[in-house]
Amino acid sequence: MEQVIIIGTGCAGYTAAIYTARANLKPLMLSGTQPGGQLTTTTEVENFPGHPEGIMGPELMVRMQKQAERFGTRIAYEMVESVSLLADGGFAVKTGSASYEAKTVIIATGAAPRHMGLPNEQSLIGRGLTSCATCDGAFYPDVPVAVIGGGDSACEEAGFLTRFASKVYLIHRRDELRASKIMADRALANPKIEPVWNSTVTEYLTDEKGEMRAVKLKNLVTGAESEMDVKCVFVAIGHVPNSGFLGGLVDLDENGYILQTPGRTATKTPGLFAAGDVADHYYRQAITAAGQGCAAALEAERYLSEHEGH
Ligand code: NAP
Repeated sequence: MEQVIIIGTGCAGYTAAIYTARANLKPLMLSGTQPGGQLTTTTEVENFPGHPEGIMGPELMVRMQKQAERFGTRIAYEMVESVSLLADGGFAVKTGSASYEAKTVIIATGAAPRHMGLPNEQSLIGRGLTSCATCDGAFYPDVPVAVIGGGDSACEEAGFLTRFASKVYLIHRRDELRASKIMADRALANPKIEPVWNSTVTEYLTDEKGEMRAVKLKNLVTGAESEMDVKCVFVAIGHVPNSGFLGGLVDLDENGYILQTPGRTATKTPGLFAAGDVADHYYRQAITAAGQGCAAALEAERYLSEHEGH
Protein backbone atom coordinates (compact mmCIF):
# COMPACT_ATOMS: atom_id res chain seq x y z
CA MET A 1 0.00 0.00 0.00
CA GLU A 2 1.27 3.48 -0.90
CA GLN A 3 1.78 6.05 1.86
CA VAL A 4 0.42 8.82 -0.29
CA ILE A 5 -1.13 9.13 -3.73
CA ILE A 6 -1.31 12.60 -5.26
CA ILE A 7 -3.93 13.00 -7.97
CA GLY A 8 -3.04 15.78 -10.40
CA THR A 9 0.25 17.25 -11.63
CA GLY A 10 -0.27 21.01 -11.48
CA CYS A 11 1.35 23.44 -9.04
CA ALA A 12 -0.52 22.01 -6.04
CA GLY A 13 0.28 18.40 -6.94
CA TYR A 14 3.99 18.93 -7.61
CA THR A 15 4.48 20.95 -4.45
CA ALA A 16 2.75 18.21 -2.43
CA ALA A 17 5.05 15.72 -4.18
CA ILE A 18 8.23 17.67 -3.37
CA TYR A 19 7.29 17.85 0.31
CA THR A 20 6.08 14.26 0.72
CA ALA A 21 9.05 12.92 -1.24
CA ARG A 22 11.49 14.83 0.97
CA ALA A 23 9.64 13.35 3.97
CA ASN A 24 10.50 9.93 2.50
CA LEU A 25 6.86 9.02 1.83
CA LYS A 26 7.69 7.97 -1.77
CA PRO A 27 4.63 9.62 -3.30
CA LEU A 28 2.92 8.23 -6.36
CA MET A 29 1.42 10.87 -8.65
CA LEU A 30 -1.38 10.12 -11.11
CA SER A 31 -1.21 12.75 -13.80
CA GLY A 32 -4.67 12.97 -15.37
CA THR A 33 -5.19 14.10 -18.94
CA GLN A 34 -3.31 17.37 -18.72
CA PRO A 35 0.09 16.73 -17.16
CA GLY A 36 1.43 19.97 -15.74
CA GLY A 37 -2.02 21.47 -15.32
CA GLN A 38 -3.26 24.88 -16.40
CA LEU A 39 0.15 26.57 -16.48
CA THR A 40 1.06 24.43 -19.48
CA THR A 41 -1.49 26.49 -21.45
CA THR A 42 -0.01 29.87 -20.53
CA THR A 43 2.97 31.77 -21.87
CA GLU A 44 5.02 33.88 -19.50
CA VAL A 45 4.41 33.72 -15.75
CA GLU A 46 5.55 37.00 -14.22
CA ASN A 47 4.26 36.62 -10.68
CA PHE A 48 5.75 33.35 -9.44
CA PRO A 49 8.31 34.43 -6.81
CA GLY A 50 11.92 33.61 -7.55
CA HIS A 51 11.71 34.32 -11.29
CA PRO A 52 12.41 38.06 -11.58
CA GLU A 53 12.58 37.91 -15.38
CA GLY A 54 9.47 35.74 -15.60
CA ILE A 55 9.36 32.11 -16.68
CA MET A 56 7.33 30.31 -19.33
CA GLY A 57 4.47 28.30 -17.77
CA PRO A 58 5.41 24.96 -19.37
CA GLU A 59 9.06 25.40 -18.29
CA LEU A 60 8.01 26.13 -14.71
CA MET A 61 6.01 22.91 -14.64
CA VAL A 62 8.88 20.84 -16.10
CA ARG A 63 11.15 22.28 -13.39
CA MET A 64 8.61 21.39 -10.68
CA GLN A 65 8.37 17.86 -12.08
CA LYS A 66 12.18 17.46 -12.06
CA GLN A 67 12.32 18.74 -8.48
CA ALA A 68 9.64 16.24 -7.41
CA GLU A 69 11.36 13.35 -9.22
CA ARG A 70 14.75 14.27 -7.78
CA PHE A 71 13.48 13.17 -4.35
CA GLY A 72 11.88 9.94 -5.56
CA THR A 73 8.38 10.87 -6.73
CA ARG A 74 6.93 8.37 -9.21
CA ILE A 75 4.50 9.58 -11.87
CA ALA A 76 1.96 7.38 -13.65
CA TYR A 77 0.31 8.97 -16.68
CA GLU A 78 -3.18 7.72 -15.92
CA MET A 79 -6.61 9.21 -15.43
CA VAL A 80 -8.26 8.48 -12.08
CA GLU A 81 -11.85 7.27 -12.41
CA SER A 82 -12.77 6.77 -8.75
CA VAL A 83 -11.56 6.91 -5.17
CA SER A 84 -13.23 4.79 -2.51
CA LEU A 85 -12.64 3.73 1.08
CA LEU A 86 -11.12 0.33 1.85
CA ALA A 87 -12.75 -1.75 4.59
CA ASP A 88 -9.58 -1.84 6.71
CA GLY A 89 -8.72 1.86 6.26
CA GLY A 90 -7.04 3.69 3.44
CA PHE A 91 -8.22 4.29 -0.10
CA ALA A 92 -8.64 2.42 -3.37
CA VAL A 93 -7.76 4.61 -6.35
CA LYS A 94 -8.89 3.24 -9.71
CA THR A 95 -7.68 4.45 -13.07
CA GLY A 96 -8.73 3.22 -16.53
CA SER A 97 -5.98 0.59 -16.47
CA ALA A 98 -4.93 -0.03 -12.85
CA SER A 99 -5.97 -0.01 -9.22
CA TYR A 100 -3.86 1.40 -6.39
CA GLU A 101 -4.18 1.49 -2.62
CA ALA A 102 -2.96 4.30 -0.38
CA LYS A 103 -3.11 5.35 3.25
CA THR A 104 -3.61 8.98 2.29
CA VAL A 105 -4.71 10.75 -0.88
CA ILE A 106 -4.13 14.36 -1.91
CA ILE A 107 -6.61 15.62 -4.50
CA ALA A 108 -4.94 18.27 -6.69
CA THR A 109 -6.96 17.86 -9.87
CA GLY A 110 -7.51 21.55 -10.56
CA ALA A 111 -10.30 22.96 -12.66
CA ALA A 112 -11.24 22.84 -16.33
CA PRO A 113 -12.50 25.70 -18.48
CA ARG A 114 -16.29 26.10 -18.46
CA HIS A 115 -18.13 25.99 -21.79
CA MET A 116 -21.45 27.52 -22.83
CA GLY A 117 -23.28 24.19 -23.11
CA LEU A 118 -24.31 24.73 -26.74
CA PRO A 119 -25.20 21.65 -28.81
CA ASN A 120 -22.28 21.43 -31.29
CA GLU A 121 -19.48 22.69 -29.05
CA GLN A 122 -17.78 19.32 -28.54
CA SER A 123 -17.29 18.87 -32.30
CA LEU A 124 -15.97 22.45 -32.61
CA ILE A 125 -13.26 22.25 -30.00
CA GLY A 126 -10.02 22.68 -31.93
CA ARG A 127 -12.00 23.76 -35.04
CA GLY A 128 -12.61 27.35 -34.03
CA LEU A 129 -13.65 26.90 -30.42
CA THR A 130 -11.11 27.02 -27.61
CA SER A 131 -10.45 28.25 -24.08
CA CYS A 132 -6.79 29.02 -24.54
CA ALA A 133 -5.71 32.13 -26.41
CA THR A 134 -2.04 31.45 -25.78
CA CYS A 135 -2.40 27.97 -27.29
CA ASP A 136 -4.54 28.79 -30.30
CA GLY A 137 -4.44 32.57 -30.91
CA ALA A 138 -1.63 32.39 -33.46
CA PHE A 139 -3.73 30.09 -35.67
CA TYR A 140 -6.10 33.00 -36.43
CA PRO A 141 -4.02 35.82 -37.95
CA ASP A 142 -5.79 38.75 -39.62
CA VAL A 143 -9.33 37.46 -39.06
CA PRO A 144 -12.02 38.56 -36.59
CA VAL A 145 -12.35 36.45 -33.43
CA ALA A 146 -14.53 36.66 -30.33
CA VAL A 147 -13.96 36.21 -26.61
CA ILE A 148 -16.95 35.33 -24.41
CA GLY A 149 -16.79 36.56 -20.80
CA GLY A 150 -16.21 39.70 -18.78
CA GLY A 151 -13.67 38.67 -16.15
CA ASP A 152 -9.89 39.03 -15.91
CA SER A 153 -9.41 35.94 -18.06
CA ALA A 154 -11.59 37.33 -20.85
CA CYS A 155 -9.76 40.67 -20.81
CA GLU A 156 -6.36 39.00 -20.72
CA GLU A 157 -7.25 36.62 -23.56
CA ALA A 158 -8.70 39.47 -25.63
CA GLY A 159 -5.56 41.58 -25.16
CA PHE A 160 -3.32 38.68 -26.15
CA LEU A 161 -5.43 37.94 -29.24
CA THR A 162 -4.98 41.48 -30.58
CA ARG A 163 -1.44 40.43 -31.51
CA PHE A 164 -2.88 38.20 -34.25
CA ALA A 165 -6.54 38.86 -35.00
CA SER A 166 -7.82 41.74 -37.15
CA LYS A 167 -10.47 42.45 -34.51
CA VAL A 168 -11.46 40.96 -31.16
CA TYR A 169 -15.11 41.13 -30.09
CA LEU A 170 -15.51 40.89 -26.32
CA ILE A 171 -18.99 39.45 -25.80
CA HIS A 172 -20.30 39.96 -22.28
CA ARG A 173 -23.74 39.25 -20.85
CA ARG A 174 -23.86 42.53 -18.88
CA ASP A 175 -22.85 46.13 -19.62
CA GLU A 176 -20.03 46.21 -17.08
CA LEU A 177 -16.95 44.02 -16.92
CA ARG A 178 -16.32 41.87 -13.87
CA ALA A 179 -12.55 42.15 -14.43
CA SER A 180 -10.29 44.15 -12.11
CA LYS A 181 -10.17 47.84 -13.03
CA ILE A 182 -6.66 47.73 -14.46
CA MET A 183 -7.45 44.76 -16.73
CA ALA A 184 -10.84 46.18 -17.78
CA ASP A 185 -9.39 49.63 -18.56
CA ARG A 186 -6.58 48.09 -20.58
CA ALA A 187 -9.00 45.98 -22.63
CA LEU A 188 -11.45 48.81 -23.27
CA ALA A 189 -8.65 51.17 -24.30
CA ASN A 190 -7.36 48.72 -26.92
CA PRO A 191 -8.56 49.89 -30.35
CA LYS A 192 -8.67 46.31 -31.66
CA ILE A 193 -11.07 45.16 -28.92
CA GLU A 194 -14.76 45.89 -29.44
CA PRO A 195 -17.06 45.15 -26.51
CA VAL A 196 -20.44 43.62 -27.30
CA TRP A 197 -22.52 44.37 -24.22
CA ASN A 198 -25.60 42.66 -22.79
CA SER A 199 -25.20 39.81 -25.22
CA THR A 200 -24.92 36.06 -25.20
CA VAL A 201 -23.96 33.52 -27.84
CA THR A 202 -26.91 31.23 -28.58
CA GLU A 203 -25.43 29.24 -31.45
CA TYR A 204 -22.09 28.43 -33.07
CA LEU A 205 -22.46 28.46 -36.87
CA THR A 206 -20.16 26.34 -39.02
CA ASP A 207 -18.93 26.30 -42.61
CA GLU A 208 -19.01 23.34 -44.99
CA LYS A 209 -15.86 21.90 -43.34
CA GLY A 210 -17.50 21.95 -39.93
CA GLU A 211 -15.33 24.84 -38.73
CA MET A 212 -16.50 27.99 -36.94
CA ARG A 213 -17.68 30.72 -39.31
CA ALA A 214 -19.97 32.87 -37.14
CA VAL A 215 -21.92 33.09 -33.89
CA LYS A 216 -25.58 33.84 -33.35
CA LEU A 217 -26.01 36.54 -30.71
CA LYS A 218 -28.95 37.48 -28.57
CA ASN A 219 -29.16 40.89 -26.94
CA LEU A 220 -30.37 40.16 -23.42
CA VAL A 221 -31.94 43.61 -23.00
CA THR A 222 -33.79 44.02 -26.30
CA GLY A 223 -34.10 40.35 -27.26
CA ALA A 224 -32.74 41.20 -30.73
CA GLU A 225 -30.88 38.43 -32.54
CA SER A 226 -27.96 38.90 -34.91
CA GLU A 227 -25.08 37.05 -36.53
CA MET A 228 -21.41 37.95 -36.22
CA ASP A 229 -18.70 36.52 -38.49
CA VAL A 230 -15.81 35.15 -36.44
CA LYS A 231 -13.32 32.42 -37.25
CA CYS A 232 -12.64 31.48 -33.67
CA VAL A 233 -14.40 31.82 -30.32
CA PHE A 234 -12.36 31.91 -27.10
CA VAL A 235 -14.53 30.99 -24.13
CA ALA A 236 -13.44 32.62 -20.85
CA ILE A 237 -16.44 32.20 -18.57
CA GLY A 238 -14.75 30.65 -15.57
CA HIS A 239 -13.82 27.11 -14.61
CA VAL A 240 -15.39 23.91 -13.37
CA PRO A 241 -13.46 22.07 -10.63
CA ASN A 242 -12.44 18.50 -11.47
CA SER A 243 -14.12 16.97 -8.43
CA GLY A 244 -16.79 14.75 -9.95
CA PHE A 245 -15.00 11.42 -9.43
CA LEU A 246 -14.94 11.47 -5.62
CA GLY A 247 -18.44 10.24 -4.86
CA GLY A 248 -19.53 11.03 -1.31
CA LEU A 249 -16.00 11.15 0.13
CA VAL A 250 -15.99 14.95 0.01
CA ASP A 251 -18.58 17.69 0.39
CA LEU A 252 -18.80 20.11 -2.52
CA ASP A 253 -20.08 23.68 -2.64
CA GLU A 254 -22.82 24.64 -5.10
CA ASN A 255 -20.23 25.06 -7.88
CA GLY A 256 -18.50 21.74 -7.28
CA TYR A 257 -15.47 23.01 -5.33
CA ILE A 258 -14.30 20.65 -2.56
CA LEU A 259 -15.06 21.95 0.93
CA GLN A 260 -12.05 21.84 3.25
CA THR A 261 -11.94 22.11 7.03
CA PRO A 262 -11.61 25.90 7.54
CA GLY A 263 -7.98 26.98 7.37
CA ARG A 264 -6.82 23.47 6.47
CA THR A 265 -6.64 21.18 3.47
CA ALA A 266 -8.42 18.30 5.22
CA THR A 267 -11.76 17.15 3.76
CA LYS A 268 -14.59 15.43 5.61
CA THR A 269 -12.89 12.05 5.09
CA PRO A 270 -9.87 11.46 7.35
CA GLY A 271 -6.73 10.92 5.28
CA LEU A 272 -8.16 12.66 2.21
CA PHE A 273 -6.80 16.15 1.50
CA ALA A 274 -7.56 18.70 -1.21
CA ALA A 275 -5.28 21.43 -2.57
CA GLY A 276 -5.30 24.02 -5.32
CA ASP A 277 -7.99 25.04 -7.80
CA VAL A 278 -10.20 21.99 -7.13
CA ALA A 279 -10.90 23.52 -3.72
CA ASP A 280 -10.17 27.21 -4.30
CA HIS A 281 -12.52 29.38 -6.30
CA TYR A 282 -11.22 32.56 -4.70
CA TYR A 283 -7.48 33.00 -5.31
CA ARG A 284 -6.82 30.57 -8.19
CA GLN A 285 -3.15 31.48 -8.47
CA ALA A 286 -0.17 29.25 -9.15
CA ILE A 287 1.51 30.32 -5.93
CA THR A 288 -1.58 29.81 -3.75
CA ALA A 289 -2.08 26.36 -5.30
CA ALA A 290 1.56 25.57 -4.54
CA GLY A 291 1.08 26.78 -0.96
CA GLN A 292 -1.94 24.54 -0.53
CA GLY A 293 0.01 21.62 -1.98
CA CYS A 294 2.64 22.18 0.70
CA ALA A 295 -0.03 22.37 3.41
CA ALA A 296 -1.71 19.17 2.20
CA ALA A 297 1.65 17.36 2.22
CA LEU A 298 2.35 18.45 5.81
CA GLU A 299 -1.15 17.41 6.88
CA ALA A 300 -0.82 14.01 5.19
CA GLU A 301 2.56 13.49 6.84
CA ARG A 302 1.13 14.33 10.28
CA TYR A 303 -1.92 12.14 9.67
CA LEU A 304 0.35 9.21 8.84
CA SER A 305 2.56 9.65 11.87
CA GLU A 306 -0.46 10.01 14.19
CA HIS A 307 -2.42 7.08 12.74
CA GLU A 308 0.19 4.66 11.48
CA GLY A 309 3.71 5.71 12.27
CA HIS A 310 6.06 5.49 9.32
P1 NAP B 1 -14.61 35.04 -13.42
O1 NAP B 1 -13.96 36.17 -12.73
O2 NAP B 1 -15.50 34.10 -12.68
O3 NAP B 1 -15.41 35.65 -14.66
C1 NAP B 1 -16.23 34.85 -15.46
C2 NAP B 1 -16.93 35.75 -16.47
O4 NAP B 1 -17.70 34.93 -17.32
C3 NAP B 1 -17.87 36.76 -15.82
O5 NAP B 1 -17.78 37.99 -16.47
C4 NAP B 1 -19.24 36.11 -16.02
O6 NAP B 1 -20.26 37.05 -16.20
C5 NAP B 1 -19.05 35.36 -17.31
N1 NAP B 1 -19.91 34.17 -17.38
C6 NAP B 1 -20.00 33.16 -16.48
N2 NAP B 1 -20.87 32.23 -16.90
C7 NAP B 1 -21.33 32.67 -18.10
C8 NAP B 1 -22.25 32.15 -19.05
N3 NAP B 1 -22.87 30.98 -18.87
N4 NAP B 1 -22.49 32.88 -20.16
C9 NAP B 1 -21.86 34.06 -20.38
N5 NAP B 1 -20.98 34.61 -19.53
C10 NAP B 1 -20.70 33.90 -18.40
O7 NAP B 1 -13.53 34.06 -14.12
P2 NAP B 1 -12.07 34.40 -14.69
O8 NAP B 1 -12.07 35.60 -15.54
O9 NAP B 1 -11.61 33.10 -15.28
O10 NAP B 1 -11.21 34.73 -13.40
C11 NAP B 1 -11.16 33.80 -12.33
C12 NAP B 1 -10.17 34.26 -11.26
O11 NAP B 1 -8.83 34.27 -11.78
C13 NAP B 1 -10.45 35.66 -10.77
O12 NAP B 1 -10.16 35.70 -9.40
C14 NAP B 1 -9.48 36.51 -11.54
O13 NAP B 1 -9.16 37.72 -10.89
C15 NAP B 1 -8.28 35.57 -11.65
N6 NAP B 1 -7.49 35.90 -12.84
C16 NAP B 1 -6.50 36.83 -12.69
C17 NAP B 1 -5.74 37.19 -13.79
C18 NAP B 1 -4.63 38.18 -13.62
O14 NAP B 1 -4.61 38.86 -12.61
N7 NAP B 1 -3.71 38.31 -14.53
C19 NAP B 1 -5.99 36.65 -15.05
C20 NAP B 1 -7.03 35.73 -15.18
C21 NAP B 1 -7.78 35.37 -14.06
P3 NAP B 1 -20.77 37.98 -14.97
O15 NAP B 1 -19.71 39.02 -14.80
O16 NAP B 1 -22.06 38.50 -15.48
O17 NAP B 1 -20.93 37.05 -13.80
